[in-house]
Amino acid sequence: MVVGAGAKVLPRRDHPDVESNSRKPASARASGAGLGSNRDTTRQHNLSTVLTLVHCSAGISRAELTRLTGLNRSTIAALVGELAQLGLVLENEPDQRQQHGRPSIMISPGPGVLALAVNPDLDAVNVALVALGGSIVNPVRFHTVAPPSTAEVVNIVSAIYTGMATSLPENRRVVGVGVAVPGLVDPADGTVIEAPQLGWQEEPLAAQLSAALNLPVTCANDAIVGARAQAAFGAGRDVSDFVYLYGGASGIAGGILSGGQLLQGATGFAGQIGHLLVRTDGANCSCGSAGCLEAEVTREELLRATGVPSGQAEDLESTVLGLFESGNAPEALLEILQRQSRLLAVALRALVHQLNPSVFVLGGFLRILARTMPALLEDAVRVGGARSAREQVAIELAPLGEDPVLVGAAELAFTELLADPARVLGTASPAPIDS
Ligand SMILES: [Zn+2]
Repeated sequence: MVVGAGAKVLPRRDHPDVESNSRKPASARASGAGLGSNRDTTRQHNLSTVLTLVHCSAGISRAELTRLTGLNRSTIAALVGELAQLGLVLENEPDQRQQHGRPSIMISPGPGVLALAVNPDLDAVNVALVALGGSIVNPVRFHTVAPPSTAEVVNIVSAIYTGMATSLPENRRVVGVGVAVPGLVDPADGTVIEAPQLGWQEEPLAAQLSAALNLPVTCANDAIVGARAQAAFGAGRDVSDFVYLYGGASGIAGGILSGGQLLQGATGFAGQIGHLLVRTDGANCSCGSAGCLEAEVTREELLRATGVPSGQAEDLESTVLGLFESGNAPEALLEILQRQSRLLAVALRALVHQLNPSVFVLGGFLRILARTMPALLEDAVRVGGARSAREQVAIELAPLGEDPVLVGAAELAFTELLADPARVLGTASPAPIDS
């Protein structure tokens, strides 16, 4: 369970959880997760709560932990001490900003435990180590000339991870791997059911990567993963109802947090916002239908209109904004921005009335539409329909780049650690891969 932490966040909510589909090495399976006394269960719960609060904050005082958890000061001191011994948190100098009473010790996420985050895309495989607290340690973007196969992803990640592992200080350990996939993933076992743009079907990616890396691996859809990052660290951290929309090379994906829970649907595939019908006579979609949001609103069209090569898609936003703000945007580009924004607005309006979110978080190239045509999107979520539903909707931007997806992928790998820190660190394999 994650509490949306930070100084002002009080409502507890369940973590927007993706059911773990970890493939664990034998060493981790043989853990003593069995029958503990009530006291052990309480201790585990309290360690989990405190670690999660520290993880989701950039630093939190011991006094604040006491207040947020309702535990007494000596219990918090003991729990923090245990987490510090495990290398999970750091106890820092007291917070001098505090005006009244004794300054309280500040607790921050420790650097000792890392997750390996992986995000295969159409033209690259992104890999990074991510520390607790969501800080990316050393991101690598490995370009590929064509969409990578799962075997290529396994080889690329293994090679990069071997290099990373050998240069890690001795007291660092990698507890697991999280993979954000631009496609449908079976939450039960991490099999990629389909990732049409990558040409993948029924690929047991979690099992393949786990065998290669000798680490537990959890796979999930990239937008669900992005939504988790938003819920833990981003625009969604203070709200329990938001819709995250991410536009990338492989289409538009969505993650929906409703009542503090990530909407999963009967079989884990809810939130396919890219396939919302936005135009009845629209373009053919990879799903076999036509007029879907992701068939009509594409990064490809913006790349073509601006001449930015797909290998440099990270420059697309600055290029479009440069043209737009200097008044030099060609008519064709303006037409595309307006048309795509109107069609995105159709989707947002439908979502406002179906889901009643308080925030839309737009990531990837959808940021460009929000930054160039804000009125089209804002009008769409504020006009018509139930007044109460539209009154409070805000449109916010996710941070630029792949970072939210990598941070969210790491969240997948941290799930078990956050739930039971002492057990996972007692059993997780500290050794890197056999090579
Ligand atoms: Zn579709």
